[in-house]
Amino acid sequence: MQVKILGSAAGGGFPQWNCACPNCRGLRAGTFRGKARTQTQLAIRADSSSWFLLGASPDLRAQIESTPELHPRAPEGTPRHSPIAGAVLLNADIDHVLGLLLMRELQPLCVYATKSVRRILTKDNSMFAMLQRVPGQVTWKEFVPGAQFRLSTSAGEDVGLRCRALPLGTHFPSYVSAPRRSQLSPLESSLGLIVESPTGKRLAFMPAVPAITTEVSRVLESCDVILFDGTFWSDDELIRLQGSGQTARQMGHVPVSSDDGSLRQLAALSHPRKIYVHINNTNPMLNDSGPEHRQVRDAGWEIAEDGWQFEL
Ligand SMILES: [Zn+2]
Repeated sequence: MQVKILGSAAGGGFPQWNCACPNCRGLRAGTFRGKARTQTQLAIRADSSSWFLLGASPDLRAQIESTPELHPRAPEGTPRHSPIAGAVLLNADIDHVLGLLLMRELQPLCVYATKSVRRILTKDNSMFAMLQRVPGQVTWKEFVPGAQFRLSTSAGEDVGLRCRALPLGTHFPSYVSAPRRSQLSPLESSLGLIVESPTGKRLAFMPAVPAITTEVSRVLESCDVILFDGTFWSDDELIRLQGSGQTARQMGHVPVSSDDGSLRQLAALSHPRKIYVHINNTNPMLNDSGPEHRQVRDAGWEIAEDGWQFEL
């Protein structure tokens, strides 16, 4: 399995358009020791030529253009083509699904989502009807958390990747109306994904983890590479910056630092390669020359950058 990290930032990207935090200001001024990042986006493929997206970020168009493997390879006489066969959605957050609307040009795609996420997008957000203009444009495939499912193209070709989603949070995005919310299953709101390659190697993608349970730790230890929630360094990061707002945990993200942060709680993981992803622009570990960056690296973790890729 080939894995590409097309984007590694949390919602808003780095720098964020309206943010003048020390990180964003320093990056714009050219004084920051660290890289700009687009919003979190993964692409995976097994041996076949078909790629699957994990999530569909608002930066997807630029992310595709900067990745030659994802460019059209049209046979002569067929001007439209994409090696992207589909996408797997783990939640209905805007920074995780908006990219679907950027792929509305009648390209056949399979979109895997829970029943709840599919209903939010297709029943309450009329713009998503642009993905259903002709038969066979987007084929929705529902999966149930906990049950294994296999990825296949819209032509029915099994691409050799087995997936299983793990319920992590219970909150839907705030744009979802109360009446709709009451009809949905909270356990389908925010998921982590385990992808198994044809050779049995396992990847965990968990961009939003509100709490590290025994089950989460057990699953992570069974994986070969984990891409884990690195959104916030500290629980009160945004409150200290803005003077008000929500804690990291209230927003569904366990912070990296502190006694009950992910660095400490996952210190015993011995098997997987550990990579933080979905990093918010305010997170001090983005600064390559800062003590937080050093602390993370010394603990055996890596901090994802756009463009990274690896084989599993
Ligand atoms: Zn910022």
